[in-house]
Amino acid sequence: MRQRLTARAVVVGDRAGTVVPDAVVDVDDGRIAWVGAAADAPPAGDAEVVALPGLLVPGLVNAHSHAPMVLFRGQGEGLPLDRWLREVMWPREARLTPDDVEVAMTAASAELLRGGVTTSVEMYFSPERIAAAVGATGARAVIAAPMVPLPGMPPLEEQMAAAVDLASGVADDGLVEYGLGPHAAYTVPLPLLRRAAELAREHGMLLHLHVAETATEGADLLATHGLSVPALLAAHDVLGGRVLAAHCVHMDDGDLELWAEYDVAVAHCPASNAKLASGVARVRDMLDRRIRVGLGTDGPASNDGLDLLADVRLAAQLARLARREATALTAAEAFWLATGGAADAIGRPDLGQVAAGRRADLVHVDTRDLRFEPVGDAADWLTHLVWSGVSRLVGDVWVGGRQVVAGGVCTAVDAAALRTEVAARAARLAR
Ligand SMILES: [Zn+2]
Repeated sequence: MRQRLTARAVVVGDRAGTVVPDAVVDVDDGRIAWVGAAADAPPAGDAEVVALPGLLVPGLVNAHSHAPMVLFRGQGEGLPLDRWLREVMWPREARLTPDDVEVAMTAASAELLRGGVTTSVEMYFSPERIAAAVGATGARAVIAAPMVPLPGMPPLEEQMAAAVDLASGVADDGLVEYGLGPHAAYTVPLPLLRRAAELAREHGMLLHLHVAETATEGADLLATHGLSVPALLAAHDVLGGRVLAAHCVHMDDGDLELWAEYDVAVAHCPASNAKLASGVARVRDMLDRRIRVGLGTDGPASNDGLDLLADVRLAAQLARLARREATALTAAEAFWLATGGAADAIGRPDLGQVAAGRRADLVHVDTRDLRFEPVGDAADWLTHLVWSGVSRLVGDVWVGGRQVVAGGVCTAVDAAALRTEVAARAARLAR
């Protein structure tokens, strides 16, 4: 089906912050066929024309999430990370069933879509149930099958083989992709990290792990091996291929040089890092070294939202505060980190920008609101999008050309019923 969407402006989602006023986006068979000014548009032909009273922006790409943790939102508020994990999260997760994961992910996926997030990188238990959940809402996900040595889980070698099996069975519509998610160097033995990296390279899969989230997590490894975690990963052949490292807060210059050398991408999670007082990642230094960076919400129990557009603003604020420079991260760069930059970071050049040939993952933000006034020139659309707190103005969302949110309501699932079900399951898990 061919569709022509017209909008007051298109924000492309590129590094330069391109904004096209009075724009047209043509969609054909799930892909963007043409983008540009209405005055230059080719004839619409038999396309259905939809006139939108706002901005069209790319579907946001969440580079790091454990979205089913909506079940644990707000739990253990104010505890330090180690007590929060041991006393609150792990006991609840020990009682978690695959049905819990699917229901929670369906609800979280609906929430993500309503906030304009069309793709998320998910690392959580029961990966095939996460796939079923996004299948229900119509969203996209890259699901890094988690590998963590927990009681009751199969051996890590078996977990890896199962993940590779899952990856071989997916459709080519790009809606679901599987990756490997060995948790971190301080929880997964190095030989298994090396094996996971080998498998990921062999099958072209994303390898997703946590690195340098807190100042102390690498202390034991440093004492044993005399190397920082990034150096240790390089020495054990874990780097190279599609590697996406979450957080990367505590990185010295040498660590960053290694990331640049091996083209390791970073999932920067400013809201989680702020809430848990982990620190502020060196985003400007990463971008200056051409390190690929995407923004992530992290799990909703450590954010506590899934509002990536709000985190765009926070990323710019923290980057500027950390360097005391108002130029440390521009509005255009901050938005790019959640769109085109995030797509690059996760190795998905088919996503993240409103550009011909990319998949038609599109978000309509209604601009009939005081938060979008005044607009003097085209760049103001992007400035307001980043700074004015507009995620509630997301009205319509398409994934691969299919409308999954209309007038702020998910078209495929019943969000109110899901909320009730999440509440009941969360209460059971908390007991
Ligand atoms: Zn995480």
